[in-house]
Amino acid sequence: MIDITKVARDAGLTVVLDGKIGTQEYQSVSGSLAALQRFADGYYKPTGDAAKTVEKLLNRAALQFEDEDAAIMREAARMLQRDHYVHLAHAARASASTPPTRYFVYDNDGGYEEFATDAERAAHHHDAIQTYLDDGWSEEVKSVVSGTVTHKTVQTNLEQQPARCQEHADADGEHCEACDAWNEWPDHSFDTTCSYEAEPIASGDAAAAPFPDELTPELREVLGWPNFKCGPVAHVMVAAGAVIKPKAEDEQAVVLHWLVKLVLKHGADWWTIGRDELREMQQRIKQAAAGGDHATAE
Ligand SMILES: [Zn+2]
Repeated sequence: MIDITKVARDAGLTVVLDGKIGTQEYQSVSGSLAALQRFADGYYKPTGDAAKTVEKLLNRAALQFEDEDAAIMREAARMLQRDHYVHLAHAARASASTPPTRYFVYDNDGGYEEFATDAERAAHHHDAIQTYLDDGWSEEVKSVVSGTVTHKTVQTNLEQQPARCQEHADADGEHCEACDAWNEWPDHSFDTTCSYEAEPIASGDAAAAPFPDELTPELREVLGWPNFKCGPVAHVMVAAGAVIKPKAEDEQAVVLHWLVKLVLKHGADWWTIGRDELREMQQRIKQAAAGGDHATAE
């Protein structure tokens, strides 16, 4: 949460306590137009790679004697911030237009299971390996494999059994189309025939989600998440098996990417769904930890 009175004071505005009724304080603010401009600059805290350059530009702008120079620097800072968000938006659009990746783990004992995220796949692969440890390792531990699903199986050539001929009860009419169709049907105990074929998932049927031209309130909130807020979320993802470099920039990029996808998919419910996914991850981490202790105790 931004301490708005601190930002105001730092910008050179005067914050005065006018009165106090019970626990409620009434304050007012006054100062120069230049101080108000510094307040506006200070209120918006940029995030991401452009953040340092933006900060430097705004600091230099505050030191300029010429208003025109200061204005040019502020404009440059604004453009940098805008580019940062446009870049994020393009990355999100690219990821939203690809069908969701399906992850799987297979092993001889546990069979085949699918997962929505790579973190879940990694956690399950790890758990599956542990199930082959008894007095010693079973050779079958090598049956544990995981990956992404590249092809799915789709129904093709679906055909409906033709209706029985109305004119010829024994379907023996000469040059009768209805009789011919009935007789060509391979097996009258089946109402339909079809085939099944492999179809690549990449060319699949998931329609490209349009990325909104205007910032929606949800995207504005998500894209404004500062790195110190993304950090704890990234740490949960890492504990659940996600691969994230231990750098604030990478943590923020991965978390924002995840959140933007949630917004594009679930709209205003993005945080309800995101919080549930995080809780699931935490649950799995706990279970994995508890399972590990149990194994060593045996
Ligand atoms: Zn017929």
